[in-house]
Amino acid sequence: MSLRSWQFCSLLAVILCAGCGLAIAQAQPGPGALPNTAMPSVLTVPPEAQAGPNFNVDAATNAYLAQIPAEKRAKSDAYFEGGYWLILWDFLIGVVVSLLLLNLRWSAAMRNLAERITRFKPIQTFIYLAEYLVLTTILVFPMTVYEGYSREHKYGLATQTFGPWLNDQFKSLLVGLVLGGIITVILFGIVRKLPRTWWIWGAIVAVAFNAFVGLIAPVYIFPIFNKITPLNDPKVTQPILSMARANGIVARDVYQIDASKQSTRMSANVSGMGNTMRITLNDNLLRRGSPEEIQAVMGHEMGHYVLDHVYSGTIYFGIVIVVGFALLAWGLDWSLQQWGEKWQIRGIGDTAVLPLVVLLASIYFFVLTPVLNTIVRTQEHEADMYGINASRQPDGFAQAAIHLGEYRKMSPGPVEEWIFYDHPSGHRRIHDAMQWKAENMKLMGTPQNREALGAGH
Ligand SMILES: [Zn+2]
Repeated sequence: MSLRSWQFCSLLAVILCAGCGLAIAQAQPGPGALPNTAMPSVLTVPPEAQAGPNFNVDAATNAYLAQIPAEKRAKSDAYFEGGYWLILWDFLIGVVVSLLLLNLRWSAAMRNLAERITRFKPIQTFIYLAEYLVLTTILVFPMTVYEGYSREHKYGLATQTFGPWLNDQFKSLLVGLVLGGIITVILFGIVRKLPRTWWIWGAIVAVAFNAFVGLIAPVYIFPIFNKITPLNDPKVTQPILSMARANGIVARDVYQIDASKQSTRMSANVSGMGNTMRITLNDNLLRRGSPEEIQAVMGHEMGHYVLDHVYSGTIYFGIVIVVGFALLAWGLDWSLQQWGEKWQIRGIGDTAVLPLVVLLASIYFFVLTPVLNTIVRTQEHEADMYGINASRQPDGFAQAAIHLGEYRKMSPGPVEEWIFYDHPSGHRRIHDAMQWKAENMKLMGTPQNREALGAGH
């Protein structure tokens, strides 16, 4: 879900991001034969990181990082840094597409077509959105192929051939049309009914809709793309369910998702509430992670759940959205005064204004990139610490950080991390784990540790 999410509107961008924000890594796939970006799949605890009286946090961290072969590190650095430029290119392409639609009056033409088909306003809005989504999808398609297919294959992160990939793109277009259709029709309805205060009500509805989609996605949207099945391996599920119970999570079942259908990335999540509560591991994690690593990752995901990150995240994004809508209201009025006639847009209640909304929203989100990343990264750090505590697997956690380093730069500079990272860097995660290990080795309870620390009782 890359370019298009920015394309059609700020809200959908938020909706699509929300789904990803919860997972330690985004769900995408890996075949039996590991691609050439794969980090060493069996990670041992290096001698410098073994518990003992001479344990040193920095030495242990560096010993873990040294397990990554230089050429693998160069490759994942290149992949991740390329992502910085993609943020800029996606933004610029989005701006150009919006300006084309407005200045060539294609947007006005699409509205006119919708008005010829029906007199019923909400249906007009929906038809306009369908035209808009199809047209912008076609315009940015070369970039979508590069970003979502060619580049992913080049770095060994994708597992789909072009046909199935295209099929997934088509499905996400349909999902975007349904979800985008619902929220766009509602928002334009609000704008037309409440032309002065629409931005307040619009923001509230947008935030509520976003939360709603986040809630239904694991049950109704993810299965459109992947198969989710109960995991029946007690060796894996029993320790996870024990950890869940120890953390007050009432889940009864563990599921697996066949993320390897699309990518090699490892991921997991805890989702739902009450009876829909479920723990889901992706098959890449199951196949490649050691038991300690799986527990560390599940501890992290349980952290998101126990720490109510869905709710605090909704509040943070709510603030971002309310401010965004206020700026949007001002930006729309100002722009339409300047160029509204030229673009043949009648006002903010006219659906033909949508490319301008997208343009202003993408400027807002582009500028806010470091702020949004920092909000998410802060929660991820909280989940990291919760997960290490809950699982008591600092080495498993370090191993997971290295596996996730297949598509993330391990050791960024501080400014780089602040701007671009939506998770703590691998370096910082391993350092956190080793710090925890140094200060809590007594808790780990292995005979060697107890002996080493002289804590016999
Ligand atoms: Zn996370």
